[in-house]
This record gives sequence, C-alpha cells and structure tokens, in this order.
Amino acid sequence: MSKQPSSYLSSKLEGRLKADKSGNSVVAREPVQKGGLLAVFGGVVYEWETFICLPERERSLSLQIEDRHFLVPRPIGKGDFVNHSCNPNAGLSGQIILVAMRDIQIGEEVCFDYAMSDTAPYDEFDCLCGAPNCRGKVSGADWQKPELQKRYAGYFSPHVQRKIDALKAEQRAFERALREKTRGAYAGGGVQVGG
Ligand SMILES: [Zn+2]
Repeated sequence: MSKQPSSYLSSKLEGRLKADKSGNSVVAREPVQKGGLLAVFGGVVYEWETFICLPERERSLSLQIEDRHFLVPRPIGKGDFVNHSCNPNAGLSGQIILVAMRDIQIGEEVCFDYAMSDTAPYDEFDCLCGAPNCRGKVSGADWQKPELQKRYAGYFSPHVQRKIDALKAEQRAFERALREKTRGAYAGGGVQVGG
C-alpha cells in the first residue's frame, strides 16, 4: 500500500501547525499569482449514508464533491490542512482543484470558503476565522446566501453551481408567475381580497 498522501500541495506552500497549536494550516512560502494551482484533493469516495458514519476527524477533513458523494483523504497529507475562511484567498476550479482567487503573499494562510463545496450538514461549526466579515457559523446551507453566490462566482464546485442555477431559475419563474398573476387580476377588473 502506498504511503503517499492522496492530496497534492503546491511546492510554493507548506502545511504546518498553527502558531496557537489549535490545528493545522497551509501557508505560502513563495508568492502565488491569482489563478495559480494550490492543491489537488484526493482520496476515497463515499456515499452520504456511509460517509456520515465515519469518525468526525475524517469527516472534517473531507470534501463534498457531488450532491451525495464525499472525498475522504487517505492517507491524510498536508494538502488536506487547508482551512475555512469567510474571507478566503482561494477557490475551487472543478470539484477537487484549489486555485488562488487573488495574489497570495509569502506567509499568508491559504483558505477557501466551505460554502464553495458544501451543501450537506456534515461539517458545521462556529467560525473563528477572525475575518471582519466572518458570518459566525458555517453551515451546509451557506451556498444559498446571495452575497456569497456573487462573491464566489466561478469558484463553486460544479454540484453547488448546479444548485445555485436551479434556485435562481426557480426564483425567476416565481417572480414571472407573480407578475402575470398581478397583471391578470388588474385586467380582470380588480383584485379580490380575502376569501
Ligand atoms: Zn469566519
């Protein structure tokens, strides 16, 4: 069996224990330009029913790659130490590739927002990322926030983007139906109230 980690981390980055020893992190040891490849996640794929029974430590390092499919790193490597931030400098390109959303300087921690990959409640927590715009709680429903959809456009995992597109189409259809109903009511000579 190979001991090589299932994830890849760019040689411009390093995985290390956080200064306060609260956990691991990934930090730039060389500058990375916007669009540069940072990490490729890998591992074993589990369906939701099996995945949710795995130990919490394994689940928290995993990545949702489809509506019901999860990538569990084995063996765990430094590429799996990328943390969440509500003000991230990295985003997803496809399901498993992490790229720089902006230029990253030496010494900066590399983070992405879990809203880019998660639609299921498998890794929810009180966020201590310290960003001025920290939303306090990270949940599997954060992808539904219009502000995040706008900020991370182009950096969502494909399965999340499909959900966003479907939600927006649904909202447009609802608004159209509402407009037509209102027009119809006026054309019919008045709106009936009550009933
Ligand atoms: Zn936060």
